[in-house]
Amino acid sequence: MTALLKAELSRLAYLLAAFAVIGWFANSTVSFLFVALAVYLGLHLRNLHKLHHWLKSNPQDYPPELTGVWEDIAQNIYRLQKKEKEAQLNLMGIIQRARESVSALDEAIVLVDGYGNLEWWNSAAERLLGFKDGTDHGKAITNLIRDPAFIRFFEKGTAKDALKLPSWIQANHYLQYEITRFGDNDRLLIAYDITRLHQLEQIRKDFVANVSHELRTPLTVLSGYIETFIDNDEFPARINRAFCQMQQQTKRMSNLVNDLLLLSRLESDNIKQEAKPVNMTNLLEQLRQEALAYDPDKQHAIMVHIDSPLQLMGIENDLRSAFSNLITNAIKYTPACGAITIRWSNDEKYAYLSVQDNGIGIEPQHIPRLTERFYRVDAARSTATGGTGLGLAIVKHVLLQHKAILNISSKSNVGSTFTCVFPKSALV
Ligand code: ADP
Repeated sequence: MTALLKAELSRLAYLLAAFAVIGWFANSTVSFLFVALAVYLGLHLRNLHKLHHWLKSNPQDYPPELTGVWEDIAQNIYRLQKKEKEAQLNLMGIIQRARESVSALDEAIVLVDGYGNLEWWNSAAERLLGFKDGTDHGKAITNLIRDPAFIRFFEKGTAKDALKLPSWIQANHYLQYEITRFGDNDRLLIAYDITRLHQLEQIRKDFVANVSHELRTPLTVLSGYIETFIDNDEFPARINRAFCQMQQQTKRMSNLVNDLLLLSRLESDNIKQEAKPVNMTNLLEQLRQEALAYDPDKQHAIMVHIDSPLQLMGIENDLRSAFSNLITNAIKYTPACGAITIRWSNDEKYAYLSVQDNGIGIEPQHIPRLTERFYRVDAARSTATGGTGLGLAIVKHVLLQHKAILNISSKSNVGSTFTCVFPKSALV
């Protein structure tokens, strides 16, 4: 039994005893006991009333004067309230500091509620996104940033995605958006100014495209002359061998220049071509014929399986380049008399173009880096086979434009399978 309860019970006992004695003298013990109970109840009700009044009107003030167990209860409530107030002040301080630091950021931070309406933003958001304090509160963010790409990103984007768009506030400025979902479909939007990065990227792209373009003419002239002089009986064998090597190297340089130009074109955002249905049966049969002619000495068995009636919506020439790169790689990296299978198939969600070979395969540590430009597992072997180191980078970019991804599975000395996975939206 707690001390409080003991004290309360002894208080009741004294009261009952006192009234019982008076009642005994007045010859009415039972009635006096009832009176004692009524007094006791009355006292409790009075305390209860005071406590209620205090809690209702001024709970922050010191509690009123109470008796017995009620005094203890009031003191406990008062202590708890004081603690909670301190914790609240502490929390508000932390929130205030967090707000101040978020406001000082260069990145725009925007809180959007579950209905897509603006809830809070920092000062960088006013500068970068043009939100106005006072007027834009509670407005739908998609009414303010109306770019369809942003609306799609806002509806479906995840923390892993990032969207790059021209600024709708400042000309020639670029912003990158990132989104994080939390709570009940609430969203935290972060926007960065990436103009400088974009400019540098553009300079790099332009430089590569211009250099490649400028190299084209001299290379054409050189190969023209080499073509004329090669295998000419007037020259000694030594000179002819030199011409042969010159022809090989100019061919390599032409391949490199062509691949670089193709990559530049694929990277540039301005040239958007219209997607059209691509007849996969025809395309893959053409590619098979080209593959048979690519290195006939190797006598590979090259098979095409069309297991899906679906057509691909896309840019046929780019898709041809990508698939052709995968097929020529399979030919290059498979020893003579190998088997190469090209398959077009689909399931409920995706369509797959896979190129499977039983060639030299790739060690697992190289696989994540294969689509980087100029990354080669074995540079000497790649150069010997006429590779530029850009083939898989081209494949990656073409697939990116078709919202597809490249899966690579391979085992050293067993073979490799490169699979292009196309989403439903790219199929008809
Ligand atoms: P490359 O012009 O060197 O072939 P790619 O970008 O096409 O450049 O390929 C990058 C590297 O990936 C190649 O150098 C090669 O080592 C490896 N690779 C690509 N395809 C295959 C394959 N089918 N089998 C084995 N290795 C491959």
